[in-house]
Amino acid sequence: MNMPYTMVPPGQHRLPPLPYPYNALEPVISSKTLQLHHDKHHKAYVDGLNKAEISLVQARERKDFEYVKYWENELAFNGSGHILHSIYWTIMAPPGTGGQPGPNTLYQINNYFGSFNAFKEQFTNATEKVEASGWGILTWQPTWRRMEVLQSEKHQNLTQWSGTPILVCDVWEHAYYLDYQNRRGDYINAWWKLINWYEVERRLAWAINALVPLTLNGT
Ligand code: MN
Repeated sequence: MNMPYTMVPPGQHRLPPLPYPYNALEPVISSKTLQLHHDKHHKAYVDGLNKAEISLVQARERKDFEYVKYWENELAFNGSGHILHSIYWTIMAPPGTGGQPGPNTLYQINNYFGSFNAFKEQFTNATEKVEASGWGILTWQPTWRRMEVLQSEKHQNLTQWSGTPILVCDVWEHAYYLDYQNRRGDYINAWWKLINWYEVERRLAWAINALVPLTLNGT
């Protein structure tokens, strides 16, 4: 049997390259912010995920699970951080190049939220009001065959199982503080200008039809 995808072995995750230069998202997101965010912050989640997986391999080999709770926590936090950042880079594009919401995206948004503006208002408010560090997330929930807007604290809390993130907005301070200081709302309003609606449409089509996981670039 031919397997279309092969597994990522434990500890073998890699930082995916940015799909554009550091300055591509200016003036919404500065080159300095993008470089630090990708090269340092995202990298740390990749490293943390690899370390957690290797540590759990060792725990299984040694039959020593004294620290299993700690490593499972690291697995959830860093694994979710790696996945969400990998999506975040791809659903953004240089201002003016991301097109408009695609037909499936608009259909599913209208179908559940009633209108694009109703969705956008909920997403914007939910994202702005994430407590401390986290994300605003538009998911496809296959269990209910529709979209939903969720907040995620840190990377992994307050989510619904089995949902697939379609559109994600990082509101950790490292995503905006150099450019917007404490004005999280200004960052989110400007961030809408960066959406790569072609990629959102592609992700949604994949999620609705998914039989196998979407391979993330670099994983
Ligand atoms: Mn981040």
